[in-house]
Amino acid sequence: MHFIFDMDGVIVNTHTPWLEEYNREYNDTLQYSDITSWGMHEFVKPECGTKIYDYLKQPGFFYYMDPLPGAVEILQKIKADTRHQITLGTAPPWDAPTAVFDKIQWIKKYLPFIEIDKEVVLLNAKYKLHADLIFDDKPATLDDFPGISVAMSYKYNRGHGDFRTPGTDPAQAWQWFYESIPLFEELILLQREAA
Ligand SMILES: [Mg+2]
Repeated sequence: MHFIFDMDGVIVNTHTPWLEEYNREYNDTLQYSDITSWGMHEFVKPECGTKIYDYLKQPGFFYYMDPLPGAVEILQKIKADTRHQITLGTAPPWDAPTAVFDKIQWIKKYLPFIEIDKEVVLLNAKYKLHADLIFDDKPATLDDFPGISVAMSYKYNRGHGDFRTPGTDPAQAWQWFYESIPLFEELILLQREAA
């Protein structure tokens, strides 16, 4: 099977440092569980608004983040299974001077088993990737992907994805993903037979 894994919100804990910086600067108490749709600017104070996206453009921002619990261990297990292919599909803010570099450095640090030149793709239009399954958190990406879409469950993506991870604990979500692989495989085989 060929899996595409999103980084932000699936492998990487992007929300915590992002909201911490915002809350500090704007004296707010926003939690990511307060975000109920994709546009983050709708949930911040009006004086912040779309400036919330400027944090993502700071040099080093995408490097100084932690992996979500469970992500590294499960990715390593999937990678070790030679029946599977992995691609990390991620969309950096294109006008941020160091975002691409920071993301690559992050992968080297936390996912040294990922081959940067063969297993990383930078793009927004992930539906163009030829793969069996995508694990992502963005509603539009989940909707547009032609194969199986699996949502890392957040309030902002409710109702999206062919499958959704249970609960709100990322470690539990990754474990569920791993245990569901035989089911996904069966489904893909059925789809191939029907095609
Ligand atoms: Mg994401």
